Amino acid sequence: MSGPAPEMEKLLVLQEREQKKMRLEKELAAWPTEMKMLEAKKTEIRATAEKKRQEAQQTEVERKKLELEAESHRAKVARYKIQQFETRKNEEFQALGTEITREEKEIEEIEDRELELMDVGERAKKAAVAEAEAAKGKEAEVAAKEGDLAKKKGELEGRLAELVKEIEGLAAGVEEGLLAKYRRILANKKDAAIVPVVHGTNCGGCHMKLTQGSVLAAKGGKAGASCENCGRLLFWPAA
Ligand SMILES: [Zn+2]
Repeated sequence: MSGPAPEMEKLLVLQEREQKKMRLEKELAAWPTEMKMLEAKKTEIRATAEKKRQEAQQTEVERKKLELEAESHRAKVARYKIQQFETRKNEEFQALGTEITREEKEIEEIEDRELELMDVGERAKKAAVAEAEAAKGKEAEVAAKEGDLAKKKGELEGRLAELVKEIEGLAAGVEEGLLAKYRRILANKKDAAIVPVVHGTNCGGCHMKLTQGSVLAAKGGKAGASCENCGRLLFWPAA
């Protein structure tokens, strides 16, 4: 006798389909996590673009503040000049002159800073526009991935439904007692309920050495042949 017995052959096909079903279920279970990751990616893309926009805006706010500051210094200069014009005291005239020079120097410094900020602002604005443009492309990429993922989910669900039907059909063809045993072992072991004898001596599930009786039962194609150690059903692999 070579190869598994007919009943065991049926179980092997059934097991292969059930293992496939478990893999599909695992893939489907990962789906929400993958969707969440894409959602997080979108949030990150938007946040990066928003940060650049705010940086450009902040520079503009600072520049305007400097403009107001310069304005108030210019008003002071104008006021001092009027006071200079009105005074008759030489000492006061000179003191006002010193103030005016000080204020004008300050204005010059503020204007230099304003120019620098205009430069920075120009660059920040360009960076913000570029980032907003890039964000559009990146978001479209993520949206495409979401579409693919939704399509994949549909396909997986379709294949799963087919498998479930096929499994029902296959299970109906297996002798009831043997099927119940197979199901019990699979539920318990998760990976496989029916395993080959390996090297002619060992269990293909737990890898322990089998007793002579188990080896002979498997070799003889006995439907209930099983490993004494792990309880998995055994079959003799085809040469
Ligand atoms: Zn075993």
